[in-house]
Amino acid sequence: MCINHTNRRDFLKITAATGAAVAGVSALAAPASADAHDHAAQPGDKMALTNVRIFDGDQITSRRTVVIENGRIGISTLGARRIDCGGAVLLPGLTDAHIHLRDVNTLHALAGSGVTTGLDMATFPPSLVNSLRGLPGLTDIRSAGTPAVAPGSPQSQIPAFPSDAVLTAPEQATQFVRSRVAEGSDYIKIIIDEPGLSPETIKAVTTAAHSAGKLVMAHATSTATVVRALDAGVDMIHHVPMDSALSASVAARYVSSGTVAVPTLTMMEGFGNLGIPGMNYAAAEGSVTALRRAGARILAGTDSNLTPGIPVQPPYGISLHHELELLVRAGLTTREALRATTSLPAQAFGLRDRGAVRIGNRADLVLIDGDPLADITATRAVRRVWVGGIEYAPVTG
Ligand SMILES: [Zn+2]
Repeated sequence: MCINHTNRRDFLKITAATGAAVAGVSALAAPASADAHDHAAQPGDKMALTNVRIFDGDQITSRRTVVIENGRIGISTLGARRIDCGGAVLLPGLTDAHIHLRDVNTLHALAGSGVTTGLDMATFPPSLVNSLRGLPGLTDIRSAGTPAVAPGSPQSQIPAFPSDAVLTAPEQATQFVRSRVAEGSDYIKIIIDEPGLSPETIKAVTTAAHSAGKLVMAHATSTATVVRALDAGVDMIHHVPMDSALSASVAARYVSSGTVAVPTLTMMEGFGNLGIPGMNYAAAEGSVTALRRAGARILAGTDSNLTPGIPVQPPYGISLHHELELLVRAGLTTREALRATTSLPAQAFGLRDRGAVRIGNRADLVLIDGDPLADITATRAVRRVWVGGIEYAPVTG
């Protein structure tokens, strides 16, 4: 980034308003560390997890058996290798609804913490993103690719930032979306900052994305930009205002429009700790409280990144557990927090093969000790993880 040291304070402010924008260009995929998979099952291996208590989206069930067959949750235990889980709790694989990919180690860190789906919210080049797709036994990803940004924005100054993503007029929206779709973007991201893209351009990108059948993610960290995102009709708003807590009336607009919130409290907390005037974590937390009270759909996302120049870099995987705790502190019930990282992101992103322990779904599963409905910190006690039916060795300590 072209950052003048004398303007560090301004940079922090700008960056704070921007969040971790784009994972670095130089981030090439590191060789996969196959060592962690020494004991991993093969995709065709049939297993029966016995004596598991399942979080079914509402309650934790009595002891059951869950079959893993050909990477999916199966029906019959016939011929299955039995694994006695001793009454531990089985969760659907967790989803982090806001990360920035770095390299294959990102996927290892996510999987090790039980995060079996990672939703990237801006990484380029597309070759990096595409090299991380569909790797057996590793966290499954979706990506926004390159976001739409305004001229003069911090992202636009990143070396090699694609020039066609720096929009100066609404007429460029269609080509911007077409390029992202051609590159493989799963959804479209728009950075809405002050000063930034005009309301007309934001609306044009949203319309073009919807015409292409893509969901629209907006980045907004102030009340004014949240309102701009709502006016444009985006599908999800990432981050929450840190200048002041969302009012009940603005929170109600999320509900009436069906807009989903991804607060990224972990990132907001990190920026709050920097002591920048106008960046108050209390406002972020209050915004989540208001959204929850209004009945808005809230997803767990951390903004984990290793993007050069970003002063807050939540670690991959483990941060998701912290995010759940922050959401509970902001007023979500433990049940709501668990849904925010399982069934809700699956529904919101149209990922119909996951988010619940259900026959036919991907065998993305996390076995934990303790009762997360009684104490959300129990999700940290990851005992075993399966990603698409392949066991991953949990990160310990
Ligand atoms: Zn981000």
